[in-house]
Amino acid sequence: MKTVLVVEDSSFFGVMIKDKIKAETSFDALWVQDMSEAVKVLNETGNSLFAAILDFNLPDAPQGEIIDEVVDRDLPAIVYTSDLSEKVRDMVWSKNVADYALKDDSRSLDYIISMLKRFERNIGTKIMVVEDSHFFRKILTDLLRVHCYKVFSAHNGMEALDLLEEHPDMKLVVTDFSMPGMDGLALTQKIREKYDRNDLAIIGVSSEGDKLLAARFIKNGANDFIIKQSFLTEEFYCRVTQSIENLEHIQMVREAAIKDFLTGLNNRRYFFDEGSKFFMSAARDKQAIACGMIDIDYFKKVNDTYGHEAGDVAICHISSILRSSARETDIVARLGGEEFCILAVNMSAEDAGKIFEDIRGKVEKSPVDIDGQKIKITVSIGVATKPGNSLDGMVGEADRLLYDAKESGRNKVVMK
Ligand code: GH3
Ligand code: MG
Ligand code: MG
Ligand code: MG
Repeated sequence: MKTVLVVEDSSFFGVMIKDKIKAETSFDALWVQDMSEAVKVLNETGNSLFAAILDFNLPDAPQGEIIDEVVDRDLPAIVYTSDLSEKVRDMVWSKNVADYALKDDSRSLDYIISMLKRFERNIGTKIMVVEDSHFFRKILTDLLRVHCYKVFSAHNGMEALDLLEEHPDMKLVVTDFSMPGMDGLALTQKIREKYDRNDLAIIGVSSEGDKLLAARFIKNGANDFIIKQSFLTEEFYCRVTQSIENLEHIQMVREAAIKDFLTGLNNRRYFFDEGSKFFMSAARDKQAIACGMIDIDYFKKVNDTYGHEAGDVAICHISSILRSSARETDIVARLGGEEFCILAVNMSAEDAGKIFEDIRGKVEKSPVDIDGQKIKITVSIGVATKPGNSLDGMVGEADRLLYDAKESGRNKVVMK
């Protein structure tokens, strides 16, 4: 586990930040009260540190001297200060800090936590800077690296397109306008032929002058625009963060439409949409296919005896058994209530028999833990292994077999 170093002489703030980091993030937190202690930690355990929260004014470092110690070691530094003067703000940004927060703002601690989480997510977030000027390319890539992004850089449009080909999971392209060969507008158009603005964001950068350029960039598919002459680090970070967060929100909405809220499994809609494609291609290629319908036995009793929340815990417990038993290529879904379905392509009837029997056994042998109480539950399973004409037909057959399993005593697998 990585650690966030908190350097703060006030016990009130120090303890509060440390506790909040431990409670609300995946990081550990280490609190020290002055610069000399902080330097010792940086020297001894620097590799295990993720970021540092720094009080601007410390007893042995009253003018933000601690910032250099942290930034020089390539650690993101968030400055926590009660001094908002322009002089301090400029000085702090000139030292390449990741961000700052104000002590007298009651939301600042939440802001610090959100930034730490942001930086953690940024580690896997790819951003490309396209800029022919060595000077400005370095400024932008350095800034992005301070925020922990995985940064790529290209000198021109062609190189950018090649890099994009290699990294189709790129999330943001920051592109200069005036470059030899292909300019930033042409590059934006080219990128948009292949990548939707909901999957990849583009920020255009240009020199002052052409008043229409911002509008042209955005009309051609850029999400945002920055002018070099009025470039402010703080604004740049805000725009980048906003672009990345917009993409994340779109991704969340997309997922919510296909995932079951309680268990995180695929939902009914996804099962029938994607499952139909699976079914058709399996039928075309004459591949074996199996469809197993799984239903918790006497589930109403679990709810009635232990409460609805306990029922939810049981549903999640079964979900994780199903998820871990299925192969990567199977579709595992919660179709509704306490009913689940697994569609497995390229699975022989014999293998299906083994896998669903294994699931039944695992459920029987691993009771659900509800407030320390071990509650035994079982499932009945109907498995259809003859594809018939449609996915609907196959699911219907699995449902009939499930009914047979219930009728003939429950806690069993019936296959056909
Ligand atoms: P059987 O062995 O025949 O399947 O009996 P059962 O009691 O499991 O089946 P029944 O269909 O009678 O009851 C299903 C229950 O599942 C009724 C419903 O209140 C409960 N249920 C459905 N969705 C949820 C849910 O999201 N959470 C919880 N806790 N209960 C749910
Ligand atoms: Mg240029
Ligand atoms: Mg049931
Ligand atoms: Mg049911």
